[in-house]
Amino acid sequence: MDSSGGKPSTAQIVLLATSSALTALLYSIYKKKAGHVTRLKEAQKISLDQDLKSILAEAPGKCIPYAVIEGVVRSVKETLNSQFVDNCKGVIERLTLKEKKMVWNRTTHLWNDCEKVIHQRTNTVPFDLASHDDSVTTTVRVVRPLDAAELDLETTYEKFHPTVQSLSNVIGHFISGERPQGIRETEEMLRLGASMTGVGELVLDSNLVRLQPPKQGLRYFLSRLDYETLLGKQEGSLRLWKALTLLVGLAACATLLYMLWRHYIWRKERRKERSVLEEFKEQQKRRVRELNLDEAAISPSACTICLSREKSCVFLECGHVCSCDQCYRTLPKPKKCPICRASIDRIVPLYNS
Ligand SMILES: [Zn+2]
Ligand SMILES: [Zn+2]
Repeated sequence: MDSSGGKPSTAQIVLLATSSALTALLYSIYKKKAGHVTRLKEAQKISLDQDLKSILAEAPGKCIPYAVIEGVVRSVKETLNSQFVDNCKGVIERLTLKEKKMVWNRTTHLWNDCEKVIHQRTNTVPFDLASHDDSVTTTVRVVRPLDAAELDLETTYEKFHPTVQSLSNVIGHFISGERPQGIRETEEMLRLGASMTGVGELVLDSNLVRLQPPKQGLRYFLSRLDYETLLGKQEGSLRLWKALTLLVGLAACATLLYMLWRHYIWRKERRKERSVLEEFKEQQKRRVRELNLDEAAISPSACTICLSREKSCVFLECGHVCSCDQCYRTLPKPKKCPICRASIDRIVPLYNS
């Protein structure tokens, strides 16, 4: 017999609720990303050439809301110099300090690597995208490059400074559960002459072409990848989100199906028990007729088999009190409870006082 009474357990409800909520969350992320990919596909491809200004001048509001443009990075006035590499000039420079340490996991009893950014500084100077063809004089000014969703920079310098370990330190680390390993210092740059794909809003503003963050719901991209590769990468990540959403969704469905199946089994058992009980009552009525007894005259404490002696034992494990000791002994083997048909493991005598 199912002691849960056909109701799902708390663990099952929690699992169903969590997996459903997670599916909904993942699906909304997936939908959003799918929208971004679609819009990236639909973005207007503009080539950086002599006609650019006239195309923009004719466009409504002298603006293309979402355009893809490819060019080479060129400084406007000043440039940034790498602090570590000679003759390395760029327009964006990012310095990052990351602390690397190992943290003791009390559950898995393992040391896990852990990296934390402790300092980051980004310097920028205004820059343009120019055509690969030197004869084209038109350039595009890139506005607010740090707002780009994907701004991939080139790592120009990387150095790991290990922490000096002494014996007393090591003992301290075992007590605290944290073992510092060192500091990773990196410099990333967007270098002059780098090929870049920009996806954003193109506007012609008093003879200057600007690429700027697009309107709400569109993503601003500044990537060293070409357009096709950038699109392929976005589609790849979209497929991953789709797979993840499907997986969690399937887990939610499986949980729900399992709970329904358990309930169905419980209902079926209940029905079987009821029919066994009805059959028993029917049998008893027949006996009453056979013995020519008055149904009203039978004591409620009478044995349900002989209908004359008092009930005098409890059947275990089902717990039914329904027969006298003599009738129990005459039950055919294997002995089964006449009410519920459960096998009788042992009996406990009742002592009526
Ligand atoms: Zn009896
Ligand atoms: Zn029973």
